[in-house]
Amino acid sequence: MNREYLIEANHIKKYFPIKAGLLSRVIGHVKAVDDVSFGIRAGETFGLVGESGCGKSTLGRVVLNLQRATSGEVLFDGTNIHQVNRQENLKLRRDMQIIFQDPFGSLNPRFLVSDIIGEPLRVHLRASAKEMDERVVELMSLVGLDPSRRNRYPHEFSGGQRQRIGIARSIALSPRFIVADEAVSALDVSVQSQVLNLMMKLQKEMGLTYLFIAHGLNVVRHISDRVGVMYLGKMVEIARTDDLFAQPLHPYTAALLSAIPKPTPHRRQERIVLQGDVPSPANPPSGCRFHPRCPMAQERCSKEIPELIEVGQDRQVACHFPLA
Ligand code: SF4
Repeated sequence: MNREYLIEANHIKKYFPIKAGLLSRVIGHVKAVDDVSFGIRAGETFGLVGESGCGKSTLGRVVLNLQRATSGEVLFDGTNIHQVNRQENLKLRRDMQIIFQDPFGSLNPRFLVSDIIGEPLRVHLRASAKEMDERVVELMSLVGLDPSRRNRYPHEFSGGQRQRIGIARSIALSPRFIVADEAVSALDVSVQSQVLNLMMKLQKEMGLTYLFIAHGLNVVRHISDRVGVMYLGKMVEIARTDDLFAQPLHPYTAALLSAIPKPTPHRRQERIVLQGDVPSPANPPSGCRFHPRCPMAQERCSKEIPELIEVGQDRQVACHFPLA
């Protein structure tokens, strides 16, 4: 057991069966997450990036036990979250929360904001109406919302304010760990940075640990201590954020980085354009899954699966020919 980490995911696989015919026979599997291991230290933000369908959101849900892993284990503060009794599970539910991607879709439009934020208090703590109201006022102030608006409906708030409502709800039970699943993707860039700043402020004040999921590296840069890059169900690189941006080691990370517009537009930008589409996770390529699109691919790449190996402090890469 490695107590360096608050969250430790070991060899996580999540396969979804593909069924066909009248008898719904299983004819294959979508390998959404395929043997992924990583850890998150207490108080840090681990950014998880990759294109749509790479398995990052599925991995986030498995880490929270919202979806059961096909195999592998997730430890929270040393406890295997799949091997707990009912009481321990209730405690874990309080300690581990999620902020959803879509502030519109994840909030019930028929509920008042006070009900949305207060619901976890009612369910988990059986708080009285008075206790709930006091806590909702406190939580709305914490996330920069006017508490006098607590008896309004979500549609009366802007997109950024609705995401603050989602954040207030996620911290209602004073959790230790939060998965933010594309939490700022639906917001304008200026609103994005306000919400990221709020999340960082709350992290400092409450000692939170985040798994921050996004499809773009530019979004995770601001908030993450370390970043993991996923491609087609595999973790291909993990590094401290500054190291990753200074020198990506995996060709896929380099391609993602090259797509970020630079602040000096007069300088020539060497964009790495990946050929072809992301292959199906139901039938991933042999060897390195990135090899059909990799500009650095060699013969060995289609034959041998590259393992994610340690190549320096806090630095892992899964590539036979990492960039130097
Ligand atoms: Fe490219 Fe080969 Fe490295 Fe895969 S193992 S990323 S194909 S160089």
